[in-house]
Amino acid sequence: MNKAVLHDHLDGGLRAKTAKELAIKDSYKPLIEIEDIESFFNRESSTSLEEYLEAFVHTTALMSNYDNLERIAFEAAEDMHFCGITLYESRYAPLYSVNDNLQIKDVIHAINSGFKQAENLYGIKSGLILCGMRNDKENVSQVSEIAIDFKEQIIGFDIAGPEYNFLPSLFADVFNKLKNNGINLTIHAGEGDGVNSIQDALDNGAKRIGHGVRIIEDIDTTSKKLGKTAEYVRNKQVPLEICITSNIHTNMYEEYNNHPIKDLIDLEFNVSINTDNRLMSNTSMKKEIDIAKNLGINNIDRILENSASYSFLNDF
Ligand SMILES: [Zn+2]
Repeated sequence: MNKAVLHDHLDGGLRAKTAKELAIKDSYKPLIEIEDIESFFNRESSTSLEEYLEAFVHTTALMSNYDNLERIAFEAAEDMHFCGITLYESRYAPLYSVNDNLQIKDVIHAINSGFKQAENLYGIKSGLILCGMRNDKENVSQVSEIAIDFKEQIIGFDIAGPEYNFLPSLFADVFNKLKNNGINLTIHAGEGDGVNSIQDALDNGAKRIGHGVRIIEDIDTTSKKLGKTAEYVRNKQVPLEICITSNIHTNMYEEYNNHPIKDLIDLEFNVSINTDNRLMSNTSMKKEIDIAKNLGINNIDRILENSASYSFLNDF
């Protein structure tokens, strides 16, 4: 049986050691001087979202040539393989890598080539979800066109970036066009915004919800009574791509014990376990699995196998 990770950002998952090596190779000054690169990137105690996001400026800066992208993609898949994963879905906002010397076709080719190397070596299958940045309408529109042009080489489309004030319906036309082209949609919702954002993502064709954890706010946990959106999500078994540590680090929940993943599992929601940004959150699938176990979740293998049955990789 396959075991899947459905929600992991390529630019959030570089190995710290690789970031340092690439910085030296490419003479990328901001990182060369830093002694302890691992703690530099570890944003678990960041007090603002800006501080958290600043780390991505450096990872994306290193993702600006073919060889680096290929290596980063290979290592991401390799790391997932060593955590027992056989289907790896990776997501990335590809325009970060486009520059005078690197065209979009090369960005996608390099990432897929890294994935292929890992598949040849370990058997792990990986696929790329393209992200548009929802705070930039032009970016979303451009990435959606790229997704259509390269639909044989990607497995889906998502919008990332700040959720609050940027509802999926702002991009209703884009999502419609993507759906008509048969492109799988997963949408970040129910993280920085609440239940209305999850409903809006569903209304705009999301087959899965990135995070979705705030569906808990549509449930009376004492009486177990579900609101309209929660009822739909549970009855239709819409997959929720849950990322526990990431939610703690972005201050959604103060500590692991306050995270609602166990409640959602007990209420029979379709929950998957994911990493989101391994480098900034100093995590891995192994760590997330251990955290889930510590929260009293016993059937981890079944959860990972269930995730695999909802993987967009199954369509390719
Ligand atoms: Zn994410």
